[in-house]
Amino acid sequence: MQDDKHYKENDIICPYCDYVFTDSWEFNGDNDTEEKITCGRCEKEFKVTRNIDISYTTTVMLCDEIGEQHEYKIERYLEYENKDTTYSYYRIETCDKCTNSNYFTITKEEYEKNI
Ligand SMILES: [Zn+2]
Ligand SMILES: [Zn+2]
Repeated sequence: MQDDKHYKENDIICPYCDYVFTDSWEFNGDNDTEEKITCGRCEKEFKVTRNIDISYTTTVMLCDEIGEQHEYKIERYLEYENKDTTYSYYRIETCDKCTNSNYFTITKEEYEKNI
């Protein structure tokens, strides 16, 4: 592929006159299949291959998404200073199975009893 004039560019660029096709996304050739297109400026025909880079993101299924009950366990207690310098206290429970977390507002007494 070294003799390709433009290799894996973000837009289709004419290999003759370097005209940039700003509407390249409209080009719907199959991945890695060579297609012939005509330059909108120099009107020469050239070949385009679409290169698609695919990546994957995975996330665990939450218990309620698979019809199961969460098994929450207390993870930790949190003290949070508000802007008006008062404090809020939270209990954080995390499900062992799906790692989903819930925050519960608690009293200062409960917080101090548990730290
Ligand atoms: Zn051209
Ligand atoms: Zn769960």
